[in-house]
This record gives sequence, C-alpha cells and structure tokens, in this order.
Amino acid sequence: MAEENEAIEKCRRHVDSLLKEKGHAELKETSYPSNSLNFLHGPNATPSTQPITLPNTSSFLPPPQASIKLKILIAGAGLGGLATAIALRLRGHTITVFEKALELGEVGAGIQIPPNSSRLLLSWGLGPYLQELATEPEAIRMRRWQNGEVISLTRLKPGFRERFGAPYYVVHRANLQISMYKRALELGVDVRVGKGVKGYDGGRARVVLENGEVCEGDLVVAADGIRSEARRVVLGGVDQAPQKPGYAAYRAMVDVELMKGDPDVEWLLESPGQNLWVGNQRHVMTYTIANNKSFNMVLSHPEDSDPSTWNQATVIEDMQQHFKEWDPRLVKVINMIRTTLKWPLLSGKPLYNWISSSGTLLILGDAAHPMVPYMSEGAAMAVEDGAALAEILSLVESPAQISDALKVFERVRILRAGQMQEASLVNGKLWHFPDGPEQRARDAAMKPDVDGVRVGESANQWSDEMTAAWAYGYDAEVEARRAWIDSQSRSSRL
Ligand SMILES: Cc1cc2nc3c(=O)[nH]c(=O)nc-3n(C[C@H](O)[C@H](O)[C@H](O)COP(=O)(O)OP(=O)(O)OC[C@H]3O[C@@H](n4cnc5c(N)ncnc54)[C@H](O)[C@@H]3O)c2cc1C
Repeated sequence: MAEENEAIEKCRRHVDSLLKEKGHAELKETSYPSNSLNFLHGPNATPSTQPITLPNTSSFLPPPQASIKLKILIAGAGLGGLATAIALRLRGHTITVFEKALELGEVGAGIQIPPNSSRLLLSWGLGPYLQELATEPEAIRMRRWQNGEVISLTRLKPGFRERFGAPYYVVHRANLQISMYKRALELGVDVRVGKGVKGYDGGRARVVLENGEVCEGDLVVAADGIRSEARRVVLGGVDQAPQKPGYAAYRAMVDVELMKGDPDVEWLLESPGQNLWVGNQRHVMTYTIANNKSFNMVLSHPEDSDPSTWNQATVIEDMQQHFKEWDPRLVKVINMIRTTLKWPLLSGKPLYNWISSSGTLLILGDAAHPMVPYMSEGAAMAVEDGAALAEILSLVESPAQISDALKVFERVRILRAGQMQEASLVNGKLWHFPDGPEQRARDAAMKPDVDGVRVGESANQWSDEMTAAWAYGYDAEVEARRAWIDSQSRSSRL
C-alpha cells in the first residue's frame, strides 16, 4: 500500500506541474512506463528496461459470479455508468441505473476504443453490436501542420489485435452508447431514463431522485460526469473541480459527399485511419466513422477564457482563423464544416479518494478522473473502472470484506487513471512544440516509425513500445485481482 501511495503521489506531482506549466519545460520524465521522452535527453539517454507483459486473452470466458450479491444503484447512463452496470450485472448483482436526461444521446461524434477497452467490451458480449457499427482503422498518421507530411506512423491493423489481444476501434458515440444500453437491458439491468439523482447520502447507500423518490441499495456508484455532484460528497463537502490546461476543441462532422470527387481531400476517405496534424499549440484529429459515411474532426487550440463568454455566432470563422496557415488540404476540409461545437478541455489530477468515508458512495469515470482527450482514453478508463469494480467485488467472500475490497479498487484505479491523465497531458506537450530544436528532435525520434524500421522506442506514445504496452496491454480485471490477492496476503502476514 505504501508503495502504491508513493506512486500515486509521484503521478500527482507530475500532473500538477504539467497543468501549471504552459510551455514544455516540465516535460522531463513520466511516472508511467515510457521511453517517449528519451529524445529530450540527447543521444545518451538510457532507455527504460521495465519488463513488458502483454495480456493473454485468446478466448473470452463467462466471468465468475460474485458469491456476495449486492443491490447497486448507479447514477448516470453515460459510457461509464453503462459499462459499470454491464460488468456488475454479469457477476450477478442487481443493478438500477438512474439517468437524468430525458433520452440517451452522447454529445459529439466519433470515439476511439483502444484495445484495453475493446477487450473488456467484447468479453461482455458487445461484439455483435460493435462488429456492425465500429471501424478498425489501419493506422494512425501524425502529420506536419504546414504541409501534411507524415512524421510518424503507428500501424494498428494488422498489429494491435495481435499484440494486445483486441482491436483498436473507432465508432460513433451514439452507436456505442445505444449498444451498451441494449446490452444492459438484455442482461436485466433496470435503466431509468429521465430520473435524475438530486441528492446523495454521505452515510447510507441511498439516493433521492429529482421527483422525491428515495431508493436504497448496498452501494451507490456515481458515474455522473465531469460536473459530478457526488464528487463533492465523496470529498467530504469540498469539491476538487478539474482545471483548465488552456485548451478547447472544436468538434465537428463533415459531410463525406462534399469531400468525394475533390482530389485534395478525397484521399482522406480512402482507407480508414486516423490523421493527426500537429503544430504550435494546436492539433487536428480526424477519422471516418459509420462505414465511411461520416468524417469526424476534433480541432484543439489554445483557449483560456470562460466558456460563458464564447460567441457561438462567430464559432466557424474563429475556428477557420486558428488553422488558416495550415496544410491547404486540411484547410479545405475545415472550410467544409457547417456546424461545430466548441468544447472546453479540462483535466483533473489524481484525487485522494473516490469513496465516501461511509464506504457507501463511490465515483468513477469522468466524475473521478477527467482528462484532456489526447490519449483517447477517457471513456476507456471508465470502462476499466467498471471492470475492476466488478472483478474485485466478485472476489469477496463475506460482507465484512467489502469495504477492504473497495479500498483496494480505489488505490489501483486512482493510480492507473492518474497516469492516464498524465499521459494525456504529455501528448499535449509533445504534439504542440513550435517549430524549433525540440520539434526537430521529436520528428527525428519518430522518423523510424515512418520508414517502417522497428526500434521499439518513439517520441510518439502510440508507437513507443513501452508506452503502448502500458496503455493498451493493461488488463483491468487481472490488475484488480492481483491487487486484491496481494492485499489479502499482506493482511494475513500481519
Ligand atoms: C473532444 C473529446 C474527444 C474524446 N475522445 C475520446 C476517445 O476517443 N476515446 C475515449 O475513450 N474517450 C474520449 N473522450 C472522453 C470521453 O468522452 C469521456 O471520458 C466519457 O464520455 C466519460 O463518460 P462518463 O460516463 O464518465 O461521463 P459522461 O459521459 O459525462 O456521462 C455522465 C452521465 O451522467 C448523467 N448525469 C449527470 N448527473 C446526473 C444525476 N444527478 N442523476 C442522473 N444522471 C446524471 C449525465 O446526463 C450523463 O448521461 C473524449 C472527450 C472529448 C471532450
């Protein structure tokens, strides 16, 4: 436990300084296994030699049932709440989900599902849905801002399935959420849409709904998003809201019919893959979803002002201004955007706890670990949270062990999600170098990826073997089980 707390503390310090530092002076080392920053230390940097263990998931077995069956109430039917509902229901718990929105509808368009998340979703029976709706991209190409030259390439297919035991998918968010909703209903989860939670009880596993109804169970899980009300209760009345790292994103979809027939942009539709233009303080991530019918774009740019002051009337012109000097082919696609949503990007740092002192209320997903979307791992972390919680609760043998199990869950997840918050901020720094010595050193350190030369180490965190193994090879169920077994053997030695 002391070792884990020390690792969390180290990660918290890193996240803190990455959030405070506007430039990249703090970019020296990571608290997670990675060789991506070695290029900053010159040619004599010593690569990390931590062993890389990859998951062994050749077949998906039905998860073992919990011996102590609980009645669990979940607030929020976003991707985190639904994932947790499915994972817990598969272990035999009775689950009710309360969603305040009148209908389900994920905001935004595309979402990437990396293998650490797809492995869990597939093992939970979402395969038939995802096979229909998701795309498996061939590669991620990082491009120079000015002319679109490929400066790094991460091969996803073939590659990721073979290495990490599961595919890298991209999908429409609404399709993913509805698939999870259908799977939850199929398993017997009671999902009550239009039933918001008004109040949490710090002492008992109880929620008061907006209509005054009171519901009680054995545990309340709040997956109520970045503006979580439950977080304040868990933190003893003083919220630790996420911070502004100084960026916002325009999220948009382009009509592919406009792109077809234009040789400057049509090539973007040819083979499914992510194209990411990176430059000074800005980047643009693009990929096609829905069987090539929609072209998804996220355009990140510096923004410190309060969202309430943003002028929606000029949002398209403002967006075009940010990227007007960029690759003319990219500018052409940006000019095809007809509507966009400007979205504030926020990041938290590892919280001290995710569980109320009574042990009856727990937060997860964005409520517990908001992060900038630069690793495409926010929802994946919420899926892992659900998997880890279900796994650890299935291992307890008596009701007296539940609070210990929740504590172990909390430690494991705070560290993992905290390190992902850090990795996401690190990507922001790595991608946003202005042209100059660091940018040239970075591009040189990524060049072997483009040339197809395997060196194992890269300034691109998707290509760096150690970072990729840590991010995508992680098995949330295995890690939760290992932590529980370790904690049990430690307490039996005392
Ligand atoms: C631009 C962008 C791109 C991203 N790309 C990716 C990506 O490619 N891959 C990835 O893994 N992640 C990505 N993310 C992150 C991902 O979108 C989030 O991490 C994820 O959606 C969080 O899910 P959640 O369920 O925790 O929270 P939310 O999605 O916010 O869901 C919370 C739910 O709780 C409900 N709720 C709130 N309060 C109450 C209440 N009192 N009672 C009942 N219900 C309530 C809300 O209505 C909502 O439905 C991206 C994020 C952004 C901004």
